Amino acid sequence: INVSDLVDASFKRISEVDGKVQAFLTLDEEQARLKAVALDEKLGKEEGSLFGMPIGIKDNIVTKNLRTTCASKILENFDPIYNATVMDKLHKADTITIGKLNMDEFAMGSSNENSGFQKTFNPWNLETVPGGSSGASATSVAAGEVPFSLGSDTGGSIRQPASFCGVVGMKPTYGLVSRYGLVAFASSLDQIGPITNTVEDNAALLGAIAGHDRMDSTSANVSIPDYASALTGDVKGMKIAVPKEYLGEGVSPEAKQSVLDALKVLENLGAEWEEVSLPHSKYALATYYLLSSSEASANLSRFDGVRYGYRTPDAENLIDMYKKTRAEGFGDEVKRRIMLGTFALSSGYYDAYYKKAQKVRTLIKKDFDDVLAKYDVIVGPTTPTPAFKIGENTSDPMTMYANDILTIPMNLAGVPAISVPCGFAAGLPLGLQIIGKHFDESSVYRAAHAFE
Ligand code: GLN
Repeated sequence: INVSDLVDASFKRISEVDGKVQAFLTLDEEQARLKAVALDEKLGKEEGSLFGMPIGIKDNIVTKNLRTTCASKILENFDPIYNATVMDKLHKADTITIGKLNMDEFAMGSSNENSGFQKTFNPWNLETVPGGSSGASATSVAAGEVPFSLGSDTGGSIRQPASFCGVVGMKPTYGLVSRYGLVAFASSLDQIGPITNTVEDNAALLGAIAGHDRMDSTSANVSIPDYASALTGDVKGMKIAVPKEYLGEGVSPEAKQSVLDALKVLENLGAEWEEVSLPHSKYALATYYLLSSSEASANLSRFDGVRYGYRTPDAENLIDMYKKTRAEGFGDEVKRRIMLGTFALSSGYYDAYYKKAQKVRTLIKKDFDDVLAKYDVIVGPTTPTPAFKIGENTSDPMTMYANDILTIPMNLAGVPAISVPCGFAAGLPLGLQIIGKHFDESSVYRAAHAFE
């Protein structure tokens, strides 16, 4: 088998199933095939760490000369002139970019129903959502279109779809992976991360994209361990904390049971677990929506019809052009967040909302620091329920937002968290979430691999 065969297999599978799951927005077949031929010539010589591996990229990661839309009409015809740092790193690892993946517009959503172009369907049951916002990143791996994909996670957008689609998704520590070239939603929360079939693949992909980057001022200057060396299966003596808030009200009995079953497996392998409390968890959702919308309102001001993408065809003057471009280019959810964020940041309300939310964020982070000072990892469900039906939550934003209640606190705290498949409810996958100390992805992978 050579690289061209792998790329063939990927496009063949896409031609068979993508009409049904609708994961890809753009395919890069010509370039992918050219690169496969080039890699075949270097087979056996100086191979990169992910030599010849087909990969799908979420469409908010900029790719040079390859359309990058953020699933928004406002960027429908945007061809970036540079690569995100992760793309340069993947190039060094010798992966092959197959195409760009659907998402909720500007990563705002939990179901891929907010895409400006198409819905993506959960391969386990086409009547259910794949999750979001990296729903198509999870779908493409679950449906066998690509073995690897990249997503981004601001409040659960890698882990929740990984859970809904039965694959492995990791949100790394804030600052571990460069955000240069990731179209910003909420800059203090966004992280790029890997979605794969196995923990081993996930660790390999994270190893390839992690590392300091002077183009991102929030990128951490830490050395990147060999994550594969943590995958020994040995969790003897590992100390696991289980927050009682994550198994309480609102979490379905199936999700709760699957976590208890997983804990039994880890216990049999020699790990120990205890119940703990993260008392400020109940404020995480409100804090997140205030902070993320505030940051989004500032970040999305750059889409003004001048610098990128769409511009309204009929405007009377400059102000009218800005207004119409944004009114026509952005979808409803994006507008909702911009309005919420603009309100929260406006003078007179700043102290009451934004500043207050920042203080609560510090308390949430402190909860994690306190628990992780005594335990190696924290374990709980990734989502309260398995995938919901298409259309089920679209009329009520609050129910949709509540879906991320178990994934949002980790972004506020900046800690790494993975979702690994752990059982089924009504024929749909459930995910186990494992959370670690800042920059201790190795312990997260160790536990996830032992359980897997
Ligand atoms: N679903 C959450 C939101 O709508 C999280 C999104 C994300 O992580 N990008 O904001």
